[in-house]
Amino acid sequence: MSIKPARTRIAPSPTGHMHLGTARTALYDYLLAKKTGGQFILRIEDTDLKRTVPGAEQEIMDGLLWLGLEYDEGPDLGGKYGPYRQTERREIYTQHAKILIDSGHAYPCFCMPEKLEKTRQAQMKRKENPHYDGTCRVLAPDEAAKRMANGEAYIVRFKMPKEGVTVARDHLRGDIITENKQLNDYVLLKSDGLPTYHLAAIVDDHEMQITHVLRGSEWLGTFPLHVNIVRAFGWEEPIWIHLSVFLKPSGKGKMSKRETAAAIKDGYSIFIKDMQELGFTPEGVLNWSALMGWGVAEDEVMTVDQMIERFNIDSLTASPAAINFQKLDHFNATHIRLFTTEDLAARLKPYFTREGLNVNDEVLLKIIPLIRERLVTLDDCLAFGTFFFREDVTPNPEDLIAKGLDAKQSAQIAQRVYQILAEQPDISHERCESPLRAYVEESGFNVNQVFGILRVAITGQKVSPPLFESMEIIGREKCLQRIKNAIEILEKMFNK
Ligand code: GLU
Repeated sequence: MSIKPARTRIAPSPTGHMHLGTARTALYDYLLAKKTGGQFILRIEDTDLKRTVPGAEQEIMDGLLWLGLEYDEGPDLGGKYGPYRQTERREIYTQHAKILIDSGHAYPCFCMPEKLEKTRQAQMKRKENPHYDGTCRVLAPDEAAKRMANGEAYIVRFKMPKEGVTVARDHLRGDIITENKQLNDYVLLKSDGLPTYHLAAIVDDHEMQITHVLRGSEWLGTFPLHVNIVRAFGWEEPIWIHLSVFLKPSGKGKMSKRETAAAIKDGYSIFIKDMQELGFTPEGVLNWSALMGWGVAEDEVMTVDQMIERFNIDSLTASPAAINFQKLDHFNATHIRLFTTEDLAARLKPYFTREGLNVNDEVLLKIIPLIRERLVTLDDCLAFGTFFFREDVTPNPEDLIAKGLDAKQSAQIAQRVYQILAEQPDISHERCESPLRAYVEESGFNVNQVFGILRVAITGQKVSPPLFESMEIIGREKCLQRIKNAIEILEKMFNK
């Protein structure tokens, strides 16, 4: 049986930073499109001019690109169904609002904002849900037409059926049944002539031949409105999928601004741009977010290709998922271990160069096996790798003093270690380890003291990748120079 190619879309509003929710929806859209040989589309929903943030659209495009979720049609690429920015589609919405007015499914409303506000206040006082009182719903069509022709300002409202029920089918949640008398006459076209989300998204999904609408569950409230609009036009409905919500890490309540700020303090974020800067990888972020709302095993490690292979909208889940940043760490670290050496080197290089280091590519390739297992985020490479690229290191003098010894004893050890290493023709692991271990034996100092001093001298830090392998990469000359510097630092301490 051949599967019908799906057309899916991510339709973000450029009103702020691109966040995890958008990334996850885009991922599922992408997987579905790829799985079925269809298309994945980017549509920018920018009709709320007051909320539009400069730069946000670019951030969305950059974010999708970084994640590797390349869209087939979009504002920058064009496509058969463009334009893909809603502010460039005004006439399309005006025409469609007119179609609904003409067919009796919508009406112009001339009520002034002050009047609407007064009605709203009165309804709230009576403890009613605020709703439009229907003044213009009952205007005779020719009277309404006359007022429009006279240039009176108006908006367009949807004429919701008042009797019966609306049955809206969500693919994950089944039939959602709402009594129509609960529904409001929502605004379709605003006074600035631009559409609301309700009209624009429905019209565009139809015009762009979207087969599956995947979106956040915050749209469940107006879902009955949306199916009524589609039906008023007489169009075929897409498959609707309202995805699960993200809960804060504690699992109690939705992710809020406060939780978001707290996450950033801990070195995490729900914003894609931040995640990139914090050293998370697209593979880690996608694997992590894919599993929050997809009923596969929680610890399933998958590349995007493997996800495409396994993806199926029937196994998406509606139950809310708590954001667990420790899992993000886990998936990120896991994917870092799966990259090829060349790939990981290319990803780490910018972190070193950003520190002003001159990165030798050969050295970088050599250090990958030494540091890979230590990385949770890519920027962890700085903690374990900068000393490879520095001319010299500046250890903290206190760190050079081995536990249980004083500066003088530590200097003696450093001197002896220097001599031993200087006697070797090269500084390979095989050559250096046994004479140093022999020295530990005969000196009566312990391994930690001797190798601790050497480690701090060579790397400038107390924790480092394997010492002998590191020394080999750094090279004989530089290593001897660094030990010499350490001796000088120690001598200064007891000669004070
Ligand atoms: N512009 C809407 C939003 O950003 C899109 C919802 C949808 O995907 O239909 O929430």
